[in-house]
Amino acid sequence: MKIYNTLSKKKEEFEPIRAGKVSMYVCGPTVYNLIHIGNARPMVVFDTVRRYMESKGYDVNYVSNFTDVDDKIIKKAIEEGVEPAVISERYIEECRKDMKGLNVKPATTHPKATEEIDGMLDMIGTLLEKGHAYVAEDGTVYFKTRSFREYGKLSHKNLDDLQGGNRSLLVSGEEQKEDPLDFVLWKPKKEGEPYWESPWCQGRPGWHIECSVMSKRYLGDEIDIHAGGEDLIFPHHENEIAQSEAANGKPFAKYWMHNAFLNIDNKKMSKSAGNFFTVRDISEKYDLQVLRFFMLSAHYRSPLNFSADLMEAAKNGYERIVTCVANLNYLLEKAHAGMADALKPHETEALEEAKGFMTKFDEAMEDDFNTADAISSIFELVKFANTKATEESSSAFIQALKEEILALSDICGLIVEKEAEILDDDIEKLIQERQDARKAKNFARADEIRDMLQKQGIILEDTREGVKWKRV
Ligand code: AMP
Ligand code: ZN
Repeated sequence: MKIYNTLSKKKEEFEPIRAGKVSMYVCGPTVYNLIHIGNARPMVVFDTVRRYMESKGYDVNYVSNFTDVDDKIIKKAIEEGVEPAVISERYIEECRKDMKGLNVKPATTHPKATEEIDGMLDMIGTLLEKGHAYVAEDGTVYFKTRSFREYGKLSHKNLDDLQGGNRSLLVSGEEQKEDPLDFVLWKPKKEGEPYWESPWCQGRPGWHIECSVMSKRYLGDEIDIHAGGEDLIFPHHENEIAQSEAANGKPFAKYWMHNAFLNIDNKKMSKSAGNFFTVRDISEKYDLQVLRFFMLSAHYRSPLNFSADLMEAAKNGYERIVTCVANLNYLLEKAHAGMADALKPHETEALEEAKGFMTKFDEAMEDDFNTADAISSIFELVKFANTKATEESSSAFIQALKEEILALSDICGLIVEKEAEILDDDIEKLIQERQDARKAKNFARADEIRDMLQKQGIILEDTREGVKWKRV
């Protein structure tokens, strides 16, 4: 398996630090709003990397954080007159809903920055002890960038080119920094902001230290893969390397992976530029699986331009796979007494031929996760199934073709076999049955019905006007 490593600017053979295990950290969103489809790109891309690795038998420990303390969250909290935690919790919930729609697996751990402050105080303490940090008069703690000799190794810039690159991270006066390249580890609170006690001042952490600490806590000092969008290479990931390696005295991440931008009119989609669509906007027009398909139809290191035409093309492509699976299901349902169960000799041969598409899929994924080519091989398999599976086929043959299509789609995280959706009428009937069961004090049955509906994504709410339900 080859991975393009931003650190070496080369595709390298993937060799995990611990045999059979992969530790992976993906920088997650700052939760102050609904996520836009640019934020969804790393989620979909790295979820697919994880799924592919799991399909190869790796045990993947996948950590992705929520940045829940930030100027933008505080600003929104002030606007709404609520605590910052109300804002961050709300958008974490909304983000989880979007991830579910995109079929992004929940991470092994989703740490929140505000719950990891102790670890941050520890790491900052270690950096101070080792002479990699200093405390300014107002209690701000800065990382002494020039004390880390390898600074710039990820972004491939030299220190003098970088002069001033960390300026935007300044919260207090520039004059108190020993060097303009130094960046904030801990900063004093401002009036009305959330804060924590620390040996230096009441305040809050800088953004970069959060990820260094959460990665260390859940994955250890040395990890296999650290990932995120390419805008994070500098300064965020460069600073993370400096902090982690200076504090731990060990190399931080072995492979650094970065996805290119999702653009609109060839400009980066971003909240600040206002040129964005949220995942929620898209879900009103399309099944989110179409969005996932769209994201995977390009290689993750190529910029991807969002347009209505490309979404329509993605819809057609995705539906080609869904229709093929539905057709195979139809043939299987039609299996009657006269239909052979066992494979016929020419079918065994055809399945051998179909293996060629699986091999092509693997080759594409082994080459730095080329999902564009991997999807082409799913199409070839679909075309093959469409011509070879007929009413004359054995059920074993149709089943085998179906399973191959489902297996490859599943590695891409694409749901292509839709469960029959429960109809509104049936929901009403079940709710009535649950009410009757409750009246009869048969609570076990009542709970069973509630759980069954919940599995189908139907949430019940007992209100004064009776039971209400909604799909989530
Ligand atoms: P943020 O909430 O801005 O910190 O972003 C969360 C993740 O989304 C980071 O990995 C970013 O690099 C990534 N990201 C933000 N905008 C885009 C975009 N337009 N295209 C691709 N990735 C993006
Ligand atoms: Zn990060």
